[in-house]
Amino acid sequence: MVAVIDRSRLADLLERERGAYRRLHPRSLAASKGNANLLSGVPMTWMAKWHGGFPLMLAGAKGATVTDIDGHEYADFCLGDTGAMAGHSPPATVAAVRRRVEEHGGLTAMLPSEDGAAVGALLASRFGVPVWSFTLSATDANRWAIRIARHVTGRSKLLVFNHCYHGSVDETIATLEHGRVRPSAGNVGPPVDPALTTRVVEFNDLEAVERELASGDVAALLTEPALTNIGIVLPEGGFHDGLRRLTRQAGSLLIIDETHTLSAGPGGCTQAWGLEPDVVTVGKAIAGGIPAGAYGLSGDVARRLLATPDTDLIDVGGVGGTLAGNILSTAAMRATLEDVLTDAAFGRMIALAKRYEEGVRAILTATSLPWTISRLGARAEHRFCAPAPRTGAESAAAADADLDEYLHLYLANRDVLLTPFHNMALVSPATTDDHVDALLAAFSQAASELVAG
Ligand code: PMP
Repeated sequence: MVAVIDRSRLADLLERERGAYRRLHPRSLAASKGNANLLSGVPMTWMAKWHGGFPLMLAGAKGATVTDIDGHEYADFCLGDTGAMAGHSPPATVAAVRRRVEEHGGLTAMLPSEDGAAVGALLASRFGVPVWSFTLSATDANRWAIRIARHVTGRSKLLVFNHCYHGSVDETIATLEHGRVRPSAGNVGPPVDPALTTRVVEFNDLEAVERELASGDVAALLTEPALTNIGIVLPEGGFHDGLRRLTRQAGSLLIIDETHTLSAGPGGCTQAWGLEPDVVTVGKAIAGGIPAGAYGLSGDVARRLLATPDTDLIDVGGVGGTLAGNILSTAAMRATLEDVLTDAAFGRMIALAKRYEEGVRAILTATSLPWTISRLGARAEHRFCAPAPRTGAESAAAADADLDEYLHLYLANRDVLLTPFHNMALVSPATTDDHVDALLAAFSQAASELVAG
């Protein structure tokens, strides 16, 4: 029999956990007040997203743990929402940054350092596309990839999947509502109606992809290998083969955003699943937490881009940034890719994430909760529905704000952190069996209390 959530019981438990969160974190609560000079009271508005009404105030972060100013140490499965997937302050990255700054000197100079070519070679061998350029964020990697796709195809539109997220990229902040493209809820100041720039279809719907590509105006299909920003929605068998075949037929580029799905292995899903993108974008974790992003072009796209004589790639043409590819980021990317996010590290990370996935499955079976958990290499995420969702819309329909808050607070009050934007648990090279045990123990208690009585 499937367990039915008693909503009044959930409300009581949630109130108890909210109270405990306030009691356990008086200094964070006090520090969250009176920051009138910060928008939303925090250095970046997303930091206000934590459950419980105020964020934990960070004291420090090392390896797979963070500490707050109230003296708690957490097993951190949020890992900066992937930015710290290499672990907090990974020693090899820190040493390379120190060497760069203290021995050689220089943070940014509008001159290339030798690390750049080494990083380009590392990314090319991992993702299979040969020509790379750097940005400061995954958002910018996507923005510039889209501009390049428009430039080389001479087409205007972007095709994305419903409930995708690719950063604050205007063309992608769009949702499908009753078959129509609409600005996503809360979209801040869209420059134009996204229906003018964007076509949107459901993930795993090849028929819809084919229909939209047939319009002939799609410069590129931009997708993650699996959706990871509306829970994890995995591709069905043959979906990626279909995307590749259909985009080639239509003369549209295929841009694969590996920012989150780098969790699948050293070359993300592109390498793990043998994908053949025209452009790969990546960011967040690749410099161990120092700001960096990158996009890689196939030989064909690079040739087409460089063949157009009026292309301004080196001044004000719209695909550059003063600090992109700076000395510090490049040194950090090189060290992180060479010495931290290695094949061996991924082997350990994925094995631990699998243990977490299997542990949650056992808890769901024991409690009869009708939820699922999906895993992509080193990241896993539960969703409040079963079977697992096939599309962004199905996954969105399974969202439950109270359950989210209950589980997040329950874990935080027991020194375990999940990502506030997701129910995502991510494993780093520094994560241990003990950390996973702590997460599973707290999850198990939270689930048992929910169905007790
Ligand atoms: N791509 C994907 C798949 C993402 O999830 C995100 C952010 N969550 C981004 C791009 C943008 O990353 P950033 O905010 O670091 O630019």
